[in-house]
Amino acid sequence: MADDGIGYIGLGNMGAAMVVNMLGAGLSVHGFDSAGTGERAPESVIAADSIADIARTCAIVFACVPDGAASLDVANAIVAAEDRQVRAMINLSTTGIEAAETIASAFDGSGIEFIDAPVSGGRTGAVRGTITVMWSGSQELLEQLKPVLETFSKSQFFVGPRPGQGQALKLLNNFLSAVAMTATSEAMIFGVANGLDMKTMLDAVNVSTGQNTATSDKFPNRIVTGTFDSGFRMALMEKDVALYLKEVRSARTPDRLSGIVADYFRDGLARFPEGDFTEIFKTVNDNKV
Ligand code: NAD
Repeated sequence: MADDGIGYIGLGNMGAAMVVNMLGAGLSVHGFDSAGTGERAPESVIAADSIADIARTCAIVFACVPDGAASLDVANAIVAAEDRQVRAMINLSTTGIEAAETIASAFDGSGIEFIDAPVSGGRTGAVRGTITVMWSGSQELLEQLKPVLETFSKSQFFVGPRPGQGQALKLLNNFLSAVAMTATSEAMIFGVANGLDMKTMLDAVNVSTGQNTATSDKFPNRIVTGTFDSGFRMALMEKDVALYLKEVRSARTPDRLSGIVADYFRDGLARFPEGDFTEIFKTVNDNKV
């Protein structure tokens, strides 16, 4: 028999913060992380020994792991679990469209409903409970689970009935965020070369037409401060932009900007393999001639 707890797999930057909000709203959460549940699980999480352990206990399971390969591992472990009670698996990870389709097919014939529901809003949004969920799969299940989703997110969009549609929206969103970061980096470096002060430039741009998420948030809060601590790893943004470029090419839609931004993030990952994605500013700065 499933208990009424929620299963949560992947207690990293995003997962742990979401779980804190679920617990704060009074939900009971069974958590697991392959790198060590004990060190990562927020207080009051019921620590599971394995994914199979979660599958035996919970009807509703969320996952927030790095990529498509990790998500497929989670899916396979759920399907293979003996005496599983899982009714639905909601993947909050950014996997790309093709991986979402592969993960969905891992559930074929299992009786488990798969939902592709990537999120946006960063670690700050996850801590504040203001993130956005981009849900693709059963709309009925979205309505049923809204009270649970509202414990850790502010907006929930039904994107379409097919897994992968949520990923299309998430990838284009992160492409826009990556463009804002790289374009703002180039612009700030140009301004500094002209003797301007970065804080003054940001204050002016933020009440002018160039305002964007990098000028209003990442630059003042993570770059000017020298902290480079958005909580979104360089490796994850490099993955997202590369996935976007691959999908744009397969859709045969315009790709000139995405190619340039993907190059920047490939360089960024080579220079900062363990870094935060805001360190792309230093990578762009390396391109000064
Ligand atoms: P993270 O690396 O901080 O956390 C991922 C966690 O998953 C790690 O603790 C890891 O040990 C665990 N994990 C990996 N494989 C696993 C497996 N097979 N079973 C169980 N646990 C496993 O990453 P994050 O920043 O929390 O991001 C998670 C996902 O959310 C990624 O797909 C990312 O692209 C997406 N995302 C991140 C942000 C952000 O700002 N950090 C924002 C939106 C979306």
